[in-house]
Formats: sequence, C-alpha cells, structure tokens
Amino acid sequence: MPELFATFADIALPVPLPDPLIYQVPLAWRAQAVPGARARVDVGKRRLIGVIVKVHHDRPEGIALRPILEVLDREPVLTDDLLGLARFMADYYLAPMGEVVRAMLPASLPPWGDRKIWLTDAGALAPPRSDAEAAVIAVLREKGRTTVAALQSQVGLADLDAVLAGLAEGGRVGGEEHRARSARYVNAVELARGELADHLAAAGRSAEGRGVVEYLAAIGRPATVAEVGAAASASPAVVRRLVKLGVLRQFTQVERLALDRHMLGVPGETPEIVLRSDQSHALGQLVGVLDRQAFAPFLLRGMTGSGKTEVYLRAAEEARARGRSVILLVPEIALVPALARAVEQRFGDDLAILHSGLGTGERHQEWERVRRGEARVVLGPRSALFAPLADLGLIVVDEEQDTAYKQEVSPRYNGRDLALVRGRDAGAAIVLVSATPSLESRLNAERGKLELLTLTERAGQGRLPEGILVDLREEKEISRRPGDVHFSERLRFEIRQALADGDQVILLRNRRGYSPILLCRACGEDMRCPDCGLPRTYHRRAKRLICHYCGSMIRAPQVCPQCKEDALEAIGAGTERVEEDFKELFPGVAVDVLDRDTARRPGGLAALLERFDRGDVQVLIGTQMVSKGHHFPKVALTAVLAADAYLRFPDFRAVERTYNLLVQVAGRAGRGDRPGRFVIQTWHPEHYAIQAALRGDDEGFAREELHFRRVFHYPPYTRMVQLLVRDKSRDRAQELIAGLTAQLSGHPLSKGVRISGPAPAPLERLRGEWRFQLLARSADGRALHRLLEEVLPKNPSYDLVIDVDPQQLL
Ligand SMILES: [Zn+2]
Ligand SMILES: [Zn+2]
Repeated sequence: MPELFATFADIALPVPLPDPLIYQVPLAWRAQAVPGARARVDVGKRRLIGVIVKVHHDRPEGIALRPILEVLDREPVLTDDLLGLARFMADYYLAPMGEVVRAMLPASLPPWGDRKIWLTDAGALAPPRSDAEAAVIAVLREKGRTTVAALQSQVGLADLDAVLAGLAEGGRVGGEEHRARSARYVNAVELARGELADHLAAAGRSAEGRGVVEYLAAIGRPATVAEVGAAASASPAVVRRLVKLGVLRQFTQVERLALDRHMLGVPGETPEIVLRSDQSHALGQLVGVLDRQAFAPFLLRGMTGSGKTEVYLRAAEEARARGRSVILLVPEIALVPALARAVEQRFGDDLAILHSGLGTGERHQEWERVRRGEARVVLGPRSALFAPLADLGLIVVDEEQDTAYKQEVSPRYNGRDLALVRGRDAGAAIVLVSATPSLESRLNAERGKLELLTLTERAGQGRLPEGILVDLREEKEISRRPGDVHFSERLRFEIRQALADGDQVILLRNRRGYSPILLCRACGEDMRCPDCGLPRTYHRRAKRLICHYCGSMIRAPQVCPQCKEDALEAIGAGTERVEEDFKELFPGVAVDVLDRDTARRPGGLAALLERFDRGDVQVLIGTQMVSKGHHFPKVALTAVLAADAYLRFPDFRAVERTYNLLVQVAGRAGRGDRPGRFVIQTWHPEHYAIQAALRGDDEGFAREELHFRRVFHYPPYTRMVQLLVRDKSRDRAQELIAGLTAQLSGHPLSKGVRISGPAPAPLERLRGEWRFQLLARSADGRALHRLLEEVLPKNPSYDLVIDVDPQQLL
C-alpha cells in the first residue's frame, strides 16, 4: 500500500498527558481501528490500553511512529456521542483525554479478541470455500489453538466474525463457548422471518422439530436453546438442524445474572398510585417535551415525601413508550437498592444497573446488555451517565444537590452538570430532582435556564414532621468527656416515647469509627497519621487506629506509645461510640449502624436496610448515609445529634450542606400515616440554616444563602477553579503555587478574574505531601477558562490538581 494512504490513529491513553498520542494502524487492523474502539499500544516501556479518538491520514513530520499492537473491540465501546461528551469533559474540566475516556468505561472491560479458536479435524480436511476461509485456515493450521486477536493480526479481515461464524456452523472450527472472560453468553434462537406453515413444512416429520417451531410461535419471542429444548423435549441437535435449515435464527445473548441482592424488598405488585393534581401537572410538562424530542431541562422540586419519584418514574415509562432510552442517576451506590426494586417492577429486564458495587462479571454483563440495546433503562451513580444508550429521551438526576455527583479524582467532573450537556446533545429531557435544590440550580431556575416544576403537597396523610430544637448550651449535665456526643434529656424522652409506641428511630452522627481522637492524658500524644498530620480515628471494634484521609492503619495501643502511661482516652464520638452509649441508655433495643464501614461488603447494605424495613431493628444509627432516599414508613422520630459539626468547616458550602442534611434527616420522620418528629441538637440554635430547617422555611434559607454567596463572590454567582500543588517538600509546594499565582494575576487576560491565595490548603498535609492552593473566580466563566488555558502548563513537571467547580475544598 502506498505511503499516501497510510492510516494513523490518535489514541487517548491513561497517562497524564493533555493530548492523545498518534500511532500507525497496520493493515490487519484497519477495518477495526475506528474511533471509540480500544487499542493496545506501547508507551515508553509500558504496554497500555487506550481508546482511539480519531483516525486520519496525516503523517506528522519527523516522528517515528509505533504501530497499534491490537484493536480490542469489534465495535466501538464509546459511541460518537460519548466521544463528543469526552471532548467536552476534557476541555471544560481541563483534564487529560485519556483519563476522561477511562472514567467513562467500566474497569477492565474484556477484549473482544480473547476468545480462543482452533481448527477441527473436519476443518483440516474440507477445502476452503473462499479466499478468506483459506487465509484463516492457513493461520490456524500453522498456529493451532490461537486467540481471535492473534488471528486477526495475521489475516486482517474486515469481516473475520462472519468468516468464523461460517466455519463454525459447518463444524470446521471450534471455539471457546464464552466470548468474554466475565460476561456469560448463552445461545438463543428465534423463528426466521416467514410463514409458520412454511416453517412447519421445513421442519419436516420430526415431532421434536415441529415442537420447537410451535413453541417459539406460541411464545412470540426468542428463547435460549436450553429453554426451547426443555419445553419441546428437543435435543440441541434438533435445534442445530433447524438453524441449518433456515427455520431458526441463532444468536448469542448475554446471560442475566440475578441482581436481586442489589435490590431492596421483594418483588410484588406495584400499588396503583393516583397522582395528585400537582404531580399530574409536572408529569404533563415532562411528557410534552418527550413528544417534542428536544432538549428541555427541568428542576423538579418538592419536599421529602411529596412523590417526586412517582413523577419521574412515570415520565420514564412515557419515554420508553416512545421508544426512547432513560438514565436514572442517584448520588450514591447506597441509594440504588431502594430504587432498584421499584424501577425493576416497572421495567423488568429493560433495566440495567451500573455501578462499581457490582461484581466484575455482573458489571460487564449489565454494560453489555445496554450496549446491545437489550436494556434501555439504566440506573446507577454518576458514572451511569456514560451508559452506551442510543436514542436517549430522559435523564433524571435525583438529589441533584448532592456533592457525591462530583468525582474527586481526575477527571473531576460533576455528573449533574454533565447530564445537562449529554441531554443537550441528545435532544433529551433532563430532570434535576431535589427537596433542597443546590444554589446553582435555584439560581438557574430563577434565571429561566431550568424550568421549575414544584410539588406542593405531601403524599398520603403524611404531614411535615414537628421540629424540636435542643439548645445544648442549656443542658445541665453536659457530657462526661470533651467532644462527647450528648443525648439530651429531651432526646431521651422522645426516644423512649417512640420506642414505647412501637415506632422506629433514626439517629444521625456524621462520623464513623469509635472516636475521632485517642488522646494520652499524660503526655498529649494524639496518634497522628505521619503522612497526613491529623489524628487517626479510633475504631474500637476493629482494634485499629485508621487515618480517614489516607486509610493507613495501625493496631490500637493499650498504653501510650510515647510515655508508656496507661492514660489513653477516646475523645469525641463516632457512630460506633454512639451505638455503645445508646445501648447503655436503652438496653435490649435492637440497633444497627449504617456507615461506610458496615455498608462496604457487597450486598451488606441491602441486607441491613431490609432488616430495618422489616422492623427487626428498631433504631438505626448512621452517618449521612441514613439521611438519603430511603422510605421507612415506621420511622416516627429522627434526630441530629450534633448539628454544628459541619457549620465550622472552612468551606463556603458548609452551611448549605448542613441545611441539606438537616432537612433530609427531618424528612425521614413520619412518612406513613402519622406525623413524625425530629430533634436537632445544636450549640448554635440561632443560625439561619438551623432555623430554616426547623421551620421548613426553604425560601428563607435560599434568600440568606444566595445573599451571602453574591456578596462574597462565591458560586453560583461566579465560576470557581481550585488549583492545588502537592509535593513532599513544603518549600517547593509553596514556591510552585506562588509562581502560578503571580503568573495568573499578572496576565493580561486576568481582567475580571479574582485570585485568592496562595495559601495552605485546609488540609495542609495529606498522605505525606504538603498542599498549597489558590482559588480563581470570575463571574465570566469563559474568561476564567481562557486565562487558565493560556497560563497552566500543558504537561506540568509537578503534581498540579485542577478542580473546576470544586465541591469540597480540602
Ligand atoms: Zn503519653
Ligand atoms: Zn493519613
């Protein structure tokens, strides 16, 4: 082939380089090397897998190019629209393309070409029917058992799959049953096109054959070979003969593993819910835009228990009825089980669940079902936004205010914001859902960028729970130990009352472990993590001191490791200690703890929630995980043990987060037929966030908080970017960030951009590194972006974190 037609591919690789690398495409892989397919290549001395983002004929001058070693996919794993979204992400979040595409795909997706094939005796004897077959047979004769990928690299056939299928049908090549390491495939058949009478005639006099045809005609859908065999008492040979006769069409189908353990509750009839008028109105608006097939962003807002879920699930049904796909996003994996059952009851096998809590096999199976169009409703956390769905009609972002939509490693994207981008490009309806919308969404609704749909009532008899404020300053017998979480007189009374009535109770303590500090009373040693410079959390049950920032752990000592005194004392309380104190105060009451430690085991979370749902456990103690999404009709009392824990954080979003948490916890109480109560214990009873949560004054909170943000130039009135340098050397980190600050402030494009810093990051030392930051803000997001593109090093020789629209400033 003349040099003129040489083909090159730009490949995005998981390395921190801003741009894709260019490779030569060998002849053998040309048919498969298309944008969106994965390829294996050498980078330096390493062999890596990347995604082809562009194929072209422009040879770059003066560089010796290496060849692609193998193309891993038969069909692109990233479709054109997802590649477009990837380009947007790389640009907007100033993130390397390789890291972006990696974040969009399930981890270690099996390559297409891993399947081993070989020549059978029949194949070795029979003459090839075409040049392509001859080429394949020649290679197999020479190599024996080999992978499809190795074969492809030798024969370079565009239609290798079809050739192999032809050879396999004639029994001339054998192959491994499964096509991929983890997703399991089964053989399935369906009736070929045509009249039933013709099929029966073709099946001939074989009773089994006729039985198979009649069975498939009766059920009117494809079936696995095993199912057909069992139903018509036919052997696989009978089915094979019918396939050969052209009566049946055979294909492979991904076997569906049971996902039951990722769902909460048992299958049953969905209760028929009659929509209230405010719900009907909201649904009507959504259905209207589904018919228009154009991008339409909404904010669906209503207090907890107002039936927002019912509205968006019906909208999803309407989208499916119009043949369009649906993505349902929840902020955390922990929220999937509660919703999964309700979604499954409506959509059955049309539902796929995508999240990292699934086993590898389950995850690949679900993803493959989506890619093949077998499942067109996808449920999962932020990464489910990248599901390879065609003809997207609706994306729902539930609890849109939740910071968990933000990924805290590169690429640092926000799933909620990207949902709007994917929806815009796909011409879909986007519904952001919340009881306490983010300040960003509130402002967007005010400015008409989101259409506001408000639910005004609460479902059933449920009224808003009664709020009770406990001013901890007035408590007499305060705390045995400093920083201890306190069960006030009033709270104890309320708990006793609820338990006596046979009701359930939820207690929130947003800190896991036993106590945040294990302190030596004799010498002051507080067991700091040497890498992070902060005290390690004491986990008493595990007998460990664990750093919650880097995860490093040591055995909990019996005596002080410094002064050898027996003077260690646990300061403050996490969920583990709250549980202990609770058991002391209320002996014999069944209690469970829900936090990241107890939810970590696969399926463990669903089991725990189910115990509570069934009423086997009366009291649930937990971190903010207990506050979200779950519907427990028997909960009459919820309490926030220390509402101030967040207010003190040096983060401009701290107040918003506190408010959201309080409202969410309050909303867990009294969702059945009785009004509930919720208790807020606080040292700052007069704070506007606490007052607003107590009184259910959402507008009041928004007014105060938006005012604060506007006056101090914080988002949503500005776009913010955090730049953070991490280094082993404190001086070097400081020097580097100071250099960046000077460059940015001195640049002609910096007009209208506000630079704060350089300053030590709130966590100055983390995982053995010093951290210094600067914050850049501007009311003109594009101006800020231009400035950063100009100034930031393309390929920094140091560790620079670029966080666009940061959610947590740590
Ligand atoms: Zn000591
Ligand atoms: Zn640490």
